[in-house]
Amino acid sequence: MTDSPATLFIDGAWVPSSTGETRTITCPADRSEVGIVSEASAEDVELAILAARRAFEGREWVDTPAAKRGDFLIKVAERLEERKDEFARAEAKDTGKRLVEAEGDMDDIAACFRYFGKIADQSPGRLVDAGNPAVISRVVHEPIGVCGMITPWNFPLLQASWKIAPALAAGNAFVLKPAELTPHTAILMMEVLDELGLPKGVANLVLGDGGVVGAPLSSHPEIDLVSFTGGLATGRKIAESAATGIKKVALELGGKNPNIVFADADYEAALDNALNAGFLDSGLVCSAGTRLIVHESIAERFVDDLVARAEDIVMGGPFDEAAETGPLISEAHRDKVTDYVTRGVEAGARLRTGGNWGGPEHEQGVFYAPTVLDQCTWDNPAVVEEGFGPVITVETFSTEEEAIEIANHTEYGLAGGVWTSDAGTANRVSRRLRHGTIWINDYHPYLPQAEWGGFKMSGVGRELGPSGLEEYTEAKHIYENTEPAVSGWFPRKR
Ligand code: NAD
Repeated sequence: MTDSPATLFIDGAWVPSSTGETRTITCPADRSEVGIVSEASAEDVELAILAARRAFEGREWVDTPAAKRGDFLIKVAERLEERKDEFARAEAKDTGKRLVEAEGDMDDIAACFRYFGKIADQSPGRLVDAGNPAVISRVVHEPIGVCGMITPWNFPLLQASWKIAPALAAGNAFVLKPAELTPHTAILMMEVLDELGLPKGVANLVLGDGGVVGAPLSSHPEIDLVSFTGGLATGRKIAESAATGIKKVALELGGKNPNIVFADADYEAALDNALNAGFLDSGLVCSAGTRLIVHESIAERFVDDLVARAEDIVMGGPFDEAAETGPLISEAHRDKVTDYVTRGVEAGARLRTGGNWGGPEHEQGVFYAPTVLDQCTWDNPAVVEEGFGPVITVETFSTEEEAIEIANHTEYGLAGGVWTSDAGTANRVSRRLRHGTIWINDYHPYLPQAEWGGFKMSGVGRELGPSGLEEYTEAKHIYENTEPAVSGWFPRKR
C-alpha cells in the first residue's frame, strides 16, 4: 500500500487517513496521474466534526470582530490572486477543463471572497418597535455553529468558496468534503486559510467517498447546517438525513435550463450564445442552457446553423491552446451521457450531430462530442432529465404563452435565457419563468452580489448576495425591558 499522504486537514494539522487508505486522482483529458491523496475514514470525519465543534465553542473566531473576519477574507482573495496560476493548474488537471476556464474560475473565487469580506460586518439585524418605550427589542444574526459542506466536481473550488466565504464571514466553523475526483484545490485553499492564521479547528477538510465521508456531514448531531451542491438524487438523501436530525439545509441541485429564442432576437448573438449556453465547459454547468426553445419561424435555419457551429468545436485537454472545450469527468459519467442520448433518440429525438466520443484522436481521455437533438417533445427523457454533458435538445413554439409553458414544464428551476429585441416580451417572459436566475439577451454571467439558487427541485436556499450570508446565520430576538416591573399575572398572595 502507498503511504497515505497528509492531505486531510483536521484541527489545524495536516494528517493522513487513519486507515492509511489512498485515492489516485487522474486527469480525465488523458488519464495521467495528478496525485495521490488520503481517503478519509468515518473516524477521521468524526475527529474533524468534533474539532470544528470545539473551535466554535472556543469562540475565538466567533468573537473576532466581524470587520476583522472580513479583512481576513479579503486577504484570502489577495492570496488566491497571487497564487492564481498554481490554483488554476491544479483545477484544470483534476477536472480536465481548459486552463483559461480554470483561470476564470479563480477570478470568480477571489471576487466571492472579496464580496463576503466587504459585507461581513453588515449585519442584517434590526430594532423592532415593541410598543413600549422602556423595551429595547432587537433581532441579531449569529453564526449557526458547525457547517458541513459537500461539493461537486464541475466547479470544485468555486462551489466550495460560495460556502466557505459566507460561513467564515458569519463566524462559523466548518468541515468541507469536496468531490472525491477533484480534491486538489480544496487542499490548496486549506493551506491558504492556515497560512493566514485562521484559528485551529475552524476549517477542516476530509476527502473521499460520498457514502462514507459525506454522509456523516448530514447526519452527525454536532453538525448544525449542511450545505450541499450536487445532483438531485444525492440532495434528496441529504435532505432526508438532515430532516431526521432537524438540521438546517441549503441545497444547490441540478437544472434543466430553458434558453428561449424569439424570432425578433439578434440572430447572430442568440446563435453564438446558444452554443455558449449549452457547450461551455462541455455542458458541465448546473445552469447550462441545454434546453433550446426556438420560435418555429426561425427554427430550421437556427438549428442548421447551430449544428454546423457545434461540429466546428475543438475538443482537447486543459493545456491544449487550440481546444475550445474539454472532457467529461470519468468513464462512468460518459456512460451516463451516452445512455441519456440513446434514450432520447429511442424516444423520438433526431440526432443532428455528435452522439459519439469524438473519434480516435480523443481516445486518451473521456470526451463526448457536442451533440444536438432536435424534434424533441417535452416528455422526451433527454428533455426531462439533466443530462449533464454537451447535449442541447431543441423544442419549438409558436406563441409567447406557449414558450413560457414549455420553459416551465420541468421539475427543475435553476436558470434560463430569453432572447428577444422587444423589451415588453423580455420583461413579461422573465417575470413568469419559474427559475432562480434569468438572463435576457445573454447567458451565464452571474455576480457575487446577486442571489443564486433554484426554484422547485433545483434546491433550497440561496448562495451569494446578502441572502448567501444570511444562510449561515440564525436570527435571534433579544427583548430587553429597561424598566423591570411586576407583571401582576400571578399576584403575590402571602
Ligand atoms: P453528486 O450528487 O454525485 O455528488 C456531489 C457531492 O456529494 C460529491 O462530493 C459526492 O461525493 C457527495 N455525495 C455522494 N453521495 C453522498 C451521500 N450519500 N451523502 C453525502 N454526500 C454524498 O454530484 P456530482 O456528479 O458531483 O455533480 C454534478 C451535479 O451537481 C449536477 O446535478 C449539477 O447540476 C449539480 N450542480 C449544481 C450546482 C448549483 O449551483 N445548483 C452547481 C454545480 C453542480
